[in-house]
Amino acid sequence: TLPDIKGDVRFDNIVFEYEKGRPALKGISLEAKAGESIALVGHTGSGKSTIINLLCRFYDPVEGRVLVDGYDIRDVTLQSLRSQVGIVLQDTFIFSGSIRDNIRFGRLEATNEEIEAAAKAVHAHDFIVKLPDGYDTQVEERGNMLSMGQRQLLSFARALLANPRVLILDEATASIDTETEQKIQQALKTLLIGRTSFMIAHRLSTIRGADKIVVLDHGNIMEEGTHDEL
Ligand code: ATP
Ligand code: MG
Repeated sequence: TLPDIKGDVRFDNIVFEYEKGRPALKGISLEAKAGESIALVGHTGSGKSTIINLLCRFYDPVEGRVLVDGYDIRDVTLQSLRSQVGIVLQDTFIFSGSIRDNIRFGRLEATNEEIEAAAKAVHAHDFIVKLPDGYDTQVEERGNMLSMGQRQLLSFARALLANPRVLILDEATASIDTETEQKIQQALKTLLIGRTSFMIAHRLSTIRGADKIVVLDHGNIMEEGTHDEL
């Protein structure tokens, strides 16, 4: 079991291939200190999602190690890893059920107060209370009655409630209006406080806000630095 972590993450000389002889990562070393936010950028196929797949342990590296607070993630239970390393995916996952259950997402011990506090913190509360049955409004799997921006805010509320020390974010590419964009940026800031984060960032504002930008190219790190340095 992984003990409670601070959130230091280290990729130590990672080589990975999905298919033999075709490396997707060619010796990546990368470090995030607890609380730091890292934006992963690079062309399609450069390895951004692969880095995240390894941190979630969807795959194991061919060479090298992924360390969380110094623990090799291969040596801890998946359950204990998942409770402290959370992910917000691009295609925000909504299931059939109430808004409340969608934020709660299996955390049965969460109270209504905690759920609403999380929604308020990421400015999702405002739109939720305007829905026909507020937090009890039923949504469908495809989440058709919710806009992209609303779905994003809902997924932030879910992540905030889950409260992982390390947060992975695959930012949506869908275009949203300026007002929603600002709301999302604010919510994101709140969500990232006190967490280590890895973001596949598409929006310039997100990239600018990151502590470190890592530019990937064909499975290598090409550049690494702050927005001002690059
Ligand atoms: P994008 O911006 O398009 O999401 P990415 O930077 O996330 O790109 P990856 O998905 O990490 O890129 O892909 C890195 C390399 O690994 C690419 O050459 C890709 O074709 C290959 N790859 C990714 N997923 C798989 C898979 N499931 N099976 C085989 N090869 C894969
Ligand atoms: Mg990808």
